Amino acid sequence: MLIDLKDRTALVTGSTQGIGAAIAAGLARAGARVGLNGRREDSTAAAAARLTSEVPGARIIPVAADLSTEEGAAAAVSALPDVDILVNNLGIFGSRPALEIDDAEWRRYFEVNVLAGIRLTRAYLPGMMARGFGRVQFIASDSAVAIPAEMIHYGMTKTSLLAVSRGFAKEAAGTGVTVNSVLAGPTHTGGVEDFVYELVDRDLPWEEAQRAFMREHRPQSLLQRLIEPEEIANMVVYLSSPQASATTGGALRVDGGYVDSILP
Ligand code: NAD
Repeated sequence: MLIDLKDRTALVTGSTQGIGAAIAAGLARAGARVGLNGRREDSTAAAAARLTSEVPGARIIPVAADLSTEEGAAAAVSALPDVDILVNNLGIFGSRPALEIDDAEWRRYFEVNVLAGIRLTRAYLPGMMARGFGRVQFIASDSAVAIPAEMIHYGMTKTSLLAVSRGFAKEAAGTGVTVNSVLAGPTHTGGVEDFVYELVDRDLPWEEAQRAFMREHRPQSLLQRLIEPEEIANMVVYLSSPQASATTGGALRVDGGYVDSILP
């Protein structure tokens, strides 16, 4: 399957590192013009430069803005008024005992992980529908359906994204615009190696260390290793393509079989 996105403009939120950076690279490789977003001018420019050297001919537009705020969203929309592919990737996570999560923290998680994506979808969906093509994706998590006891505020936001994407898919029904969520599983992103080595023998080489970590601490995974960010990106690039025209209102899993369920 040849995926050609050269006539398309994408915006990937939170794409200076991790899964977002891999998605931005995947879309750029498929030919899309890509809005690369981080909160700071310097880190966004540095990530854009890295991506341009990694993907020859990449067309990258750095969009430095805190997209969890109304002002940040307005700045992104004025920098990139017509977006065909919106990937709502940015997200925060952290563990906290359930009874210690106060109102402010619940609100912060909702605003960053859920409302930021809703706001951008509201801004870009009408243009996509008018043009008769568009792709909106929300990066959810296995935590959307397997709520982790140590971070129910995070799990709540990821479950919300499933509802939000299904709802916006209904709004876009019959227009050529698809809206989906992608459930990412445990992924090899920055900081994860330190986390793994806190839990397994520090002398093990990475390959063995991550397998030991998965066996002992994530035994539900059928993949039995961490997922590479590019493996999530492959699904997102496919969903962004014209070839994925019949997939909408769905929750697609790239979780290594982590969620023990036949249905998504
Ligand atoms: P990460 O922390 O490595 O990267 C997040 C990116 O978002 C960074 O570039 C950060 O600067 C940016 N960001 C955060 N808040 C922002 C804001 N307000 N405005 C603009 N940018 C902002 O995260 P990651 O591990 O790559 O995760 C990406 C997404 O995938 C998140 O939504 C996360 O919940 C989800 N996810 C991650 C995993 C995992 O194992 N890493 C698993 C399932 C789902």
